Amino acid sequence: MSFDLKARLEQRRAAALYRQRPLLESPQGPQAVVDGQPLLAFCSNDYLGLANHPQVIAAWRAGAERWGVGGGASHLVIGHSGPHHELELALAEFTGRPRALLFTTGYMANLGTLTALVGQGDSVLQDRLNHASLLDAGLLSGARFNRYLHNDAVSLAKRLEKTVGNTLVVTDGVFSMDGDVADLPALAAEARAKGAWLMVDDAHGFGTLGKHGGGVAEHFGLGMDDLPVLVGTLGKAFGTAGAFVAGSEDLIESLIQFARPYIYTTSQPPALACATLQSLQLLRDEQWRREHLDNLIRQFRLGAEQIGLQLMDSFTPIQPIMIGDAARAVRLSQMLRERGLMVTAIRPPTVPAGSARLRVTLTAAHSEAQVQLLLNALAECYPQLEPADA
Ligand SMILES: *Cc1c(COP(=O)(O)O)cnc(C)c1O
Repeated sequence: MSFDLKARLEQRRAAALYRQRPLLESPQGPQAVVDGQPLLAFCSNDYLGLANHPQVIAAWRAGAERWGVGGGASHLVIGHSGPHHELELALAEFTGRPRALLFTTGYMANLGTLTALVGQGDSVLQDRLNHASLLDAGLLSGARFNRYLHNDAVSLAKRLEKTVGNTLVVTDGVFSMDGDVADLPALAAEARAKGAWLMVDDAHGFGTLGKHGGGVAEHFGLGMDDLPVLVGTLGKAFGTAGAFVAGSEDLIESLIQFARPYIYTTSQPPALACATLQSLQLLRDEQWRREHLDNLIRQFRLGAEQIGLQLMDSFTPIQPIMIGDAARAVRLSQMLRERGLMVTAIRPPTVPAGSARLRVTLTAAHSEAQVQLLLNALAECYPQLEPADA
């Protein structure tokens, strides 16, 4: 007896769903070296161009000199150090919430928060296009789990009729594979009307939306009554790593007591918190990064529409080109790569079957000329793309 891993891998390969990890041989940025080839990349989540920013690097370096490199222990033992604490205070102020709690990754923040808030006898309602970490957390929580139609407050309202126990409504702020923004005022109103809590994972909204980069909460002006559980990640627009949950005193204390992925893990390196403190300052104060990014988004959408590409309903830096067939999406991605451009094809199960796409992401580190190069290449490649195999 043995696990038949080979057959499983072959099956995945035959379905054009096999994943490979491109090897990045340069720092994060538009001009990347991937598998030995210099490429102009449009696939990173470093939306503000902070991952390789000299001031953030300097803060990391100074932090390492002062605090060393390892967290050393969990937060509840002796791993909660000065920079972690300072960053939590800064994130609470930034989000306008009484408190914030730092997690090591967004995946763990979602897992820890959902499982701390709901369990057997409770209910979780999620948008069907939520990030995998939220869906996984919902299933693991043991609560009754249901998905509502994508971004549909009416569908949510119907499901809210049939919940038991404490009910948590969970949504991405900006949908990671589509780029559209959750209709939070409508979702929050439905949740409040039924005494449910709304939890928003704004991994892609922080830094990119809101005048000060406060994400969907700032974009819609939603306070804690509407949005009691607010999650942000630090590996995207912040350019560093980690995540946070912001909310009431009681919420954060409950997470410290009951969120197992918070309790049973080593704190992130304190120097990383030093770097994030610096990137938070840049993210909040350097308004020009968001303005430049907005200009690039408009430029891209205008150009793509002229080529006849099928875009999605998005005004965020996530600008997917819908293709449908997985093999075709991979082919278009390869054609672009032969022209020195890197845009990732996103296939099931990351997105629903039949909705493979090229996920273009724009960042403040791109120039207008670089976006034009992408548009030129798309204008050349897209018409040459053969129809899907029957
Ligand atoms: C990236 C992402 C996460 C995971 O965050 P990590 O810090 O990378 O683990 C969670 N939710 C959403 C919506 C994401 O896009």
